[in-house]
Amino acid sequence: MIGKEGFCLHINDGVWYYTIASFDDTGLVRNGFSTRKGGVSTGQYGTLNLGLKKSDSREAVMENFSRFCRAIGVEPGNMVFSDQIHGDQIAVVGENDRGKGIFRNTDIIGKDGLMTCQPGVALVTFYADCVPLFFLDPVYPAIAVSHAGWRGTVAKIGAKTLAMMEKAFGTRPEDCLVGIGPSIGPCCFEVDIPVMEQFAAAFPKHRYIIKNGRKPNKYNIDLWQANTMELIEMGVPKDNISLASICTCCRNDIFFSHRGDRGHTGSMAAVLMLKG
Ligand SMILES: [Zn+2]
Repeated sequence: MIGKEGFCLHINDGVWYYTIASFDDTGLVRNGFSTRKGGVSTGQYGTLNLGLKKSDSREAVMENFSRFCRAIGVEPGNMVFSDQIHGDQIAVVGENDRGKGIFRNTDIIGKDGLMTCQPGVALVTFYADCVPLFFLDPVYPAIAVSHAGWRGTVAKIGAKTLAMMEKAFGTRPEDCLVGIGPSIGPCCFEVDIPVMEQFAAAFPKHRYIIKNGRKPNKYNIDLWQANTMELIEMGVPKDNISLASICTCCRNDIFFSHRGDRGHTGSMAAVLMLKG
């Protein structure tokens, strides 16, 4: 396993969430990846569902946001939501975008990643098995979050995020800290031949990310190592990459999991904000 394990579990007023130790150590950001524990939603959304687009009640989701935001020290009004479509587009946002997706309509459409250099702008992306990528350039400073499901991983949204940070802020990959959060692991991410072939084509030098599955014509893919190797190839030092190494499907008791809950599940959020 390349990359260090560096996510810490916190329990604050009953809300369970993770932060990235190397990000915390810089003192530059507030960050958090939510779990399913500590909210008020019920049934398949039990309990900390943060998906406003689900059929959960808005009142419950807003209460969940209020609890999670209090735990990680972010004002809900400072959040900007992505509008994910399993693509590879990233938007640069700023203070004028705060509240979009939560308190007002958004014009951030079809973006799977967000970035900013402005303090007090909390970037928010959503998950239930897909891989959350957190980026911090402590030099500029600037931040980004991107949503790397299997399609985003094949499309190399992580490398595209870094390239865009370089263009927008002059970020150098060798300065960047990256966090790869809780998501479906190689233990549970089983695919058919057509998806396996897309990974084989996208990662020709890293065939070990593909293993034979338990059944014929099934393969298990390691999204964590695929994203890690992609970022190392972009110039991020391996010691700057923190891996949660926690499978959301195996730990369906802590996390919402699209696979683990057979599609009937809530959403977790990855939040990252430069402090003022
Ligand atoms: Zn698993």
